[in-house]
Amino acid sequence: MTLGTAAGPAASATGSTGPAGGLGGHLAAVTLPPCAARVEQAEAAVDRLRTAAVDAVAVTWVDNAGITRVKAVPLGALVHAAQWGVGAAPCFDVFLADDGITTSPSTGGPTGDLRLYPDLDRVVPLAAQPGWAWAPGDRHTQAGTPHPGCQRLFARRMEAAAAERGLTLRAGIEVEWVVALAGGPQDEPQYPTHGPAYGMHRLTDLADYLRDVLRALGEQGLTVLQIHPEYAPGQFEVSVAPEGPVGAADTSVLVRHTVRAVSARHGLRVSFAPVVEPGAVGNGGHLHLSLWRDGHNLGHGGPGPHGLTAEAEGFLAGVLGALPELLVLGCSSPAGYLRLVPSHWAGAYQCWGLENREAALRLVTGSTGERAAAANAEVKCFDASANPYLAVGAVLAAGLVGLDRHLSLPPEFTGDPAAAEPGSVPRLPTGPAEALAAFERSAVLREALGGPLYEAVLAVRRAEGEQYAVATPEQLVAATRWRY
Ligand code: GLU
Ligand code: MG
Repeated sequence: MTLGTAAGPAASATGSTGPAGGLGGHLAAVTLPPCAARVEQAEAAVDRLRTAAVDAVAVTWVDNAGITRVKAVPLGALVHAAQWGVGAAPCFDVFLADDGITTSPSTGGPTGDLRLYPDLDRVVPLAAQPGWAWAPGDRHTQAGTPHPGCQRLFARRMEAAAAERGLTLRAGIEVEWVVALAGGPQDEPQYPTHGPAYGMHRLTDLADYLRDVLRALGEQGLTVLQIHPEYAPGQFEVSVAPEGPVGAADTSVLVRHTVRAVSARHGLRVSFAPVVEPGAVGNGGHLHLSLWRDGHNLGHGGPGPHGLTAEAEGFLAGVLGALPELLVLGCSSPAGYLRLVPSHWAGAYQCWGLENREAALRLVTGSTGERAAAANAEVKCFDASANPYLAVGAVLAAGLVGLDRHLSLPPEFTGDPAAAEPGSVPRLPTGPAEALAAFERSAVLREALGGPLYEAVLAVRRAEGEQYAVATPEQLVAATRWRY
């Protein structure tokens, strides 16, 4: 099925073999470079990493339950890993957040092997884990063809689908987390600071820790825009500069594991789980995005609402309309629905609004004078239990379909939707089953993900939905608090 007709001028530049304007093919974007080129790149990386006193490289991928999994190789084995990949069982595609394993029509059981290839364009020594470097991985088959269940390759395909239309997406994922004393009881987090929300008191209590987080992120080449205490007890947030969608997803993995490593060095345990205390404000994983063509931000200078161009409006309308099914990818854990409640700034309503922190889609224009660069939209309803590659890839898919179909945004909503006439603003799904039903109806996401990945996501969500179907909020929070 082809969902659109607009083939951008960059079609040949991506070398796409997929249908112009569709979401399916883009094989060139996910094909391994020739083996000789991989070896040459790996040898150069080994030289660089040896100089940085690196002993081993952690190669990560994020599974469909949102857990970052890893295979590590000593530096001496990096060239071999770049040549032939590192072994990874296909059944990782159907792992659950609690390490249970389900099955999907194409995955399950102990047989088979995939090869995890480190992306050496992104390899970096880890500042808070001396002797270690990190690289995100892509999964291919033993025959060297792209694994259809690879989430990072999916995000790359969607990035290529945008490039085919002459578009680039710039994205950034905000990271919120809660810190607790590492030695404290698991089921009753004890916080290292009792300062107020957004309070300087909290920053003062944990000044050395927060400085070390900033230093580590900076040493790893990340540009931090802001760090601050958040609303919930022991909660903080960091945001980094936007980049391409796959890069932003990689960065969100790197940021979280850097925060975790620095926290461990300070005797702290961290949680990126959607909810750490039942009833409290949770940890979001808001996705900021802006769409660009020929160096111009399409969210600025157009005739649409607040300066949106028609293309940006179509893209955002596509995203807004698909939010119920996008939650399956952007809000992976069933615990996410405990966070996604009104009046928690989590974006529980399917509406959009300028600077509206209760709208699932918040439009940000930036200050007068910097709007051409700063205008962006924020998907607020997502949390950090999401696989970030699935989240950015799926938002791209839904947005591109909205753009191809020239969709318009519904009227803007100003104020708190919770205070509006009941039923006048649609609530997003209030539980995983409702989101899953929307996902099962979504031809767009089914086509974009491709059968094996779509089926694996479905299997994992169904299994986790059943697992916690009768859990109380307290049980669900206890089961997920330290998993993310
Ligand atoms: N912690 C809130 C959430 O669950 C978001 C707060 C904010 O707007 O930064 O998404
Ligand atoms: Mg925040």
